[in-house]
Amino acid sequence: MPTPTAPKPDTPATADGSSDRPLPVVAPATQAAFAHHPRRWGRFHYVYPVVSRRSGGLSIGINLNIDKACNFDCVYCCVDRTTEPVRRDVDLDQIRCELAEMLDIAISGEIWTAPPFDAVSPELRRINDIAFSGDGEPTVYPRFDEACRIAVDLKNARGLDSVKIVVITNATALDRQTVRTGLDLLDAHNGEVWAKLDAGTEEYYRLVERTKFPLEKVLANILECGRTRPIVIQSLFMSVRGEPLPDAEYEAFLDRLCALHDGVCNIKLVQLYTTARRTAEAWVGPLTNAHLDRLGERLRERLPGLNAEVYYGVTGSD
Ligand code: SF4
Repeated sequence: MPTPTAPKPDTPATADGSSDRPLPVVAPATQAAFAHHPRRWGRFHYVYPVVSRRSGGLSIGINLNIDKACNFDCVYCCVDRTTEPVRRDVDLDQIRCELAEMLDIAISGEIWTAPPFDAVSPELRRINDIAFSGDGEPTVYPRFDEACRIAVDLKNARGLDSVKIVVITNATALDRQTVRTGLDLLDAHNGEVWAKLDAGTEEYYRLVERTKFPLEKVLANILECGRTRPIVIQSLFMSVRGEPLPDAEYEAFLDRLCALHDGVCNIKLVQLYTTARRTAEAWVGPLTNAHLDRLGERLRERLPGLNAEVYYGVTGSD
């Protein structure tokens, strides 16, 4: 599940996706670090560091989809599936070792001496989260609950109480028992679910996500998950073959959000963003900053009680 990149460059966003902690304005060198999102780092296979704009600090990713397999085929996906994966197996013992080492590199500050992290602003040199976010959908990994346990144990062993464990998901597998078990564990250890919702109509959803899973299943899983714990909705909108997102589609998306809200889904935040990196299809492009701002304003009109943040593409496009 690729993640959005940098916050609106002229508008302080929030460090943890909530509205209680303002972020500084982002310097150009830090913007470059935001754009740097490889899922391989040094000799590590599964664990990688990212300065994430939505995190406002260091996000330590765990890639449970090293084979690059995903049950979605999003037109905007930035995973390069034209090259063969280096490995296909998931080795939990190795993940444990790599995560322990990466946490220690981050805690010691060594991470901030290596490019591109040496260019990151001092105020962003903090560990924000450990994130299950890799080259596919992390929750389909059959031992997802065991991977959650590893992250919890290593985080707790280092006293990193304020560091979140984020699950970035397309929500298709949130109803699996291994996922429920994993999320229950994370709930007790500063866990957070970021669930993808990019469409309001089945037709547009099929155009964008290209999956066999119906939109209704995604919505049902988000609703159930959000009834149990606060949930972050992440929504990517884009232009398709030069045409911006249709207004009717966005209104349908807002209808879905309203239905979730009315169904007592505890939506902590909605993240609105656009493409910022290479996309699977060349006919996909970013929305302008002004368009994204309008989407944010419209969301706040329809759902005034909901927190919403807008994230521009790195280069902007106005
Ligand atoms: S859910 Fe979509 S964006 Fe995320 S890895 Fe799968 S295909 Fe790519």
